[in-house]
Amino acid sequence: MTALSLDRTALDMRRGACPALSAPMQTGDGLLARIALTEALHPSQLATLCRLARRHGNGILDISARGNLQVRGLTALSAPQLDAEVRALQLPLRDGLAVEVPPLSGIDPDEIADPRALAAAIRDGAADIKGLAPKMSVVVDGGGRLRLSDLLADIRLVAKRHGGGIGWTLLLGGTEAAGGIHGVLGEEEAASATIALLRELASRGQKARGRDLASGLPRHAVATQSISPFGLHPLAPDLAAAGIGPAFGQIDAEQLTALCEEAVALGMPAVKPALDHSLIFFGPPDACERLIAFANLNGFVTSGNDPRSAIAACPGRPACASGEVETHALGALAARECGDLLDGSFKLHVSGCAKGCAHPQPSPLTLCGTPAGLAWIAGRAADPALAVIDPKDIATALGRVSALVRTERRDGEQSAACLSRLGPDRISAHLMSGQP
Ligand code: SF4
Repeated sequence: MTALSLDRTALDMRRGACPALSAPMQTGDGLLARIALTEALHPSQLATLCRLARRHGNGILDISARGNLQVRGLTALSAPQLDAEVRALQLPLRDGLAVEVPPLSGIDPDEIADPRALAAAIRDGAADIKGLAPKMSVVVDGGGRLRLSDLLADIRLVAKRHGGGIGWTLLLGGTEAAGGIHGVLGEEEAASATIALLRELASRGQKARGRDLASGLPRHAVATQSISPFGLHPLAPDLAAAGIGPAFGQIDAEQLTALCEEAVALGMPAVKPALDHSLIFFGPPDACERLIAFANLNGFVTSGNDPRSAIAACPGRPACASGEVETHALGALAARECGDLLDGSFKLHVSGCAKGCAHPQPSPLTLCGTPAGLAWIAGRAADPALAVIDPKDIATALGRVSALVRTERRDGEQSAACLSRLGPDRISAHLMSGQP
């Protein structure tokens, strides 16, 4: 068992700190520990984790955008107890470098290649590399139905059909659309090139990231269209996946226990926390459908058409001491007021403060709590505000932007493209005047 360091310097509130299970991070509602998994769990194992979250924390769990479980509200006394009890469960915990694959890898009928062997080779090859940035991540994406294209990665390998075979495009930094293209490699070369790049980054120190090696490299011209993880995904005649998520990625342990118990009662054998704050349950198609119906009745997100799935909201106030606004209440208001604007083509970012934990990437619409009011930003939470709005006027402001896009949208145009065409100046002028 790894000893928990309770040295306050280790309890790091900086953005970019990685709250692993044995090195929890200080947040506004106590310590937060991350449980990162490499394989699926049985739903009863997830229910056990929920019980531990209630016993040792404040009973609130997060499912992060990258598909990690996070237990909130731990204390200096309870965090090591959680660490010990989770490790005693012998779960497939990830230690070391994050090498992530899509949640349907190996069973996805649409994937170009199964990325798991390549991911394992990279994980093994990188095991002795010391001194990487704490949040260093490698994505290995087999090009199937659920892609990891929008997750930031230091190094990304994406399967593509190439010269009658399969190649792996190696990209450095950013999302798939923004990363620099290093080259297209065979599987063995892809593993060794990735390990060499990780060694290069480690030699540059803990601040070095994949993007630092990307200058001058070409980019993909177009962004890939993501498919939502929420809803039913048929995989084979007798196997499907049910994508279900708590609103804004956060849930009471009792509610999640009830969902897991329902999955157990339906005979579902496996669940994986996954991208976009989702839980992917696996089982026969009829069990998946029944679990989705149960989740829907109990307030979970069960469809990519649910506007809440298009909102990235951090815990905000009161869960986080830095929060200037109640982000979840604001997110729920946005889902009600501008559901048609939230068509899945972009994430509305609702941030409690300028750190922007929920969505490090720029967004065409970011609402950020500040001491002066709610900043309306096109970009990242820390970027300059186009306008600062009194929180009591936010429903009106959201309604205005929604109406502007509804009026200006061209045939077949998605909200993200429309917002980009209108541009931040026109949007902020409309926001302040109320006139198109
Ligand atoms: S962005 Fe949200 S979660 Fe992150 S520090 Fe600010 S209020 Fe807290």
